[in-house]
Amino acid sequence: MSEVSPFWSPVVGTLTPYVPGEQPKQAKLVKLNTNENPYPPSPQVLEAIQAATLTGLQLYPDPESTTLRQTIARHHGLQAEQVFVGNGSDEVLAHAFFAFFQQGGAPLLFADVTYSFYRVYCGLYGIPAQTVPLDEDMRLDVAAMVAPRAELPAGVVVANPNAPTGMGLPLEQIEQLLQAHPNRVVLVDEAYVDFGGASAVPLVARYPNLLVVHTLSKSRSLAGLRVGAAFGQRPLIDALERVKNSFNSYPLDRLAQAGAAAAYNDTAYFAQTVADVVDAREGLTLALEDLGFVVLPSQANFVFARHPRRDAAELAAALRGHGVLVRHFQKPERIAQFLRISIGTPQQCGVLVAALEAVLQSPAAAA
Ligand SMILES: *Cc1c(COP(=O)(O)O)cnc(C)c1O
Repeated sequence: MSEVSPFWSPVVGTLTPYVPGEQPKQAKLVKLNTNENPYPPSPQVLEAIQAATLTGLQLYPDPESTTLRQTIARHHGLQAEQVFVGNGSDEVLAHAFFAFFQQGGAPLLFADVTYSFYRVYCGLYGIPAQTVPLDEDMRLDVAAMVAPRAELPAGVVVANPNAPTGMGLPLEQIEQLLQAHPNRVVLVDEAYVDFGGASAVPLVARYPNLLVVHTLSKSRSLAGLRVGAAFGQRPLIDALERVKNSFNSYPLDRLAQAGAAAAYNDTAYFAQTVADVVDAREGLTLALEDLGFVVLPSQANFVFARHPRRDAAELAAALRGHGVLVRHFQKPERIAQFLRISIGTPQQCGVLVAALEAVLQSPAAAA
């Protein structure tokens, strides 16, 4: 970390940036640390991107991403005016925090264990964070989030399924959040919903305070293309457009717009790859349990697991020695003994399990 420089705007020194999982330079590692899809994107995506390279890269892209928004809207039974797109869902989230949660110093509610970028955006925009601890089963404590409070919060953010636990909430509980906070936006980050969660998109028509955020990085194998989307009623989407057009008119380039639309159009490939990941998740969960791990029930493309007798940081380091990357979070304390393991191909999962067998056979380092 560099020292604070007198050239910096003062706020820069106060930021705590997000730390993404390692993107190794060595290609040979089995990469199960950042929840990417183990399968490449649909061949139709590659064709669409190739076609787009031949038609006008010297020209700016459509600032409205009209075709892509229409395609996504059709896919979800929405109007194009109810769809916002951005350069990855992280950018969509950032614009949403700016647009909805700067409410005169009121605190934003989110879980103590959830996607760590929420706290980073709070820092960037000066939004106080009020975290709500997960319950003893590591589930979101919806009762605490809907309990009457003296002060109106700035809003509510939940990841459903949650990260890094993988555990999902039923839609009735999302509706409880929406009904308890009618004057604030409830943002539901559904980055992993396609792997088994219940999507709140059908609730958009009934709740003017609902914003649902999706990404193409996980279930659609396009982490490298950077496309995310938000769904909500017109006033919410209009706010996001105002923020976006005050920041960058062209967040999605021509290749991204073309490739992302093609990903939605190849429904068969999407269904097959999602089914393969879900199958591998069920197989890996059983294999980890056989090795003595406690595995939280996952509706995502990763599992969150701890071994009752082995230190998680040591396991992660030992796995790296075997050429397998998984994610370990030091903080918060409560999850420091868990590993988050992305679901790979059956072959990659096999390499992981074999490496764990070898690591677990060798004695733990002295505590
Ligand atoms: C991966 C992830 C994102 C970010 O996705 P991008 O579209 O790649 O920026 C957002 N939210 C959660 C919960 C995620 O896990």
